[in-house]
Amino acid sequence: MFFKTKPCPRCLGKGSVDDADIKRLNAELLWLPGMCAYCEGKGVVGVRVNVAPETLYLNMDVPKRERRALRRGNRGALSRAEIYDQRSREFLIHMIQRLEELEGDHQALAQEHIEELKLHMKGKEPKEQDKVAVLEWCQQLSEYAGSKL
Ligand SMILES: [Zn+2]
Repeated sequence: MFFKTKPCPRCLGKGSVDDADIKRLNAELLWLPGMCAYCEGKGVVGVRVNVAPETLYLNMDVPKRERRALRRGNRGALSRAEIYDQRSREFLIHMIQRLEELEGDHQALAQEHIEELKLHMKGKEPKEQDKVAVLEWCQQLSEYAGSKL
């Protein structure tokens, strides 16, 4: 069987997204570099695939079935994507506002977020690597927010 393909519009044919792609697709702080979920690392996609390359929901944390449904333009999957993308953007705006309230103290913001994680885990201490990830993320957020001022 032969399928017509086109270069992946998200990773531009590399099979993975890097910081430059993330910036181009306006997904800073919401995606991490790694395998491209748009083309599944192949660098090419079927010509009929036309889901927006910047769709945040189309990421490697979403089950493979759902990723396939998105690429096929399944309406249910697309509406879940719309909700997810909107919530992600709102979360980012909320975190930037909170950082401003804390006068740019990203360590205090990270501490707050770790406390929230603890609540979600019924008081259990989050893993050290998760705490480090939160701290790094908050630091990136502060650089990002600073560059937008
Ligand atoms: Zn790709």
